[in-house]
Amino acid sequence: MIDNKLSRRALLIRAVQLPAMGATLMAINAFGEKADLLCADPDVLSESEMGLRRSLGYLEVSDDPDKTCSVCAFFRPGSEDGCGRCQLFQGGPVSPGGRCASWSEIS
Ligand code: SF4
Repeated sequence: MIDNKLSRRALLIRAVQLPAMGATLMAINAFGEKADLLCADPDVLSESEMGLRRSLGYLEVSDDPDKTCSVCAFFRPGSEDGCGRCQLFQGGPVSPGGRCASWSEIS
C-alpha cells in the first residue's frame, strides 16, 4: 500500500519534471545551437591547432550569445554532426555556439 503511494507520488513528480526539462532544452535550442555540442576535441586536435585556439581565446560556448561562431564571417556550416568550420583554424571544427577573439560580424 505504501509502495503504491510512493510510486504514484514519484510518477507525479516525473510528470512535472519532464515538461520542465523539455521547455529548458527548447529554450536552449531557441538560439539554434546545441549547448552540449563539443567540436574542438583536444584529444583529436594537434598541438599547433590547440595553440592557435588558445592564442585566440577560443571557447566552445561563447560568453556573448549575440557573438557566436554561427554568426561570424569566418564560420562555415559543417557536417551533419552539427559542428562547423572556421577559416582561421585551417578549417578545423568549431562549435556553432563557440567564439574567439577574432569574431567578425558578417557584412
Ligand atoms: S573566427 Fe572565431 S568566432 Fe569566428 S568562426 Fe572562427 S572561432 Fe568562431
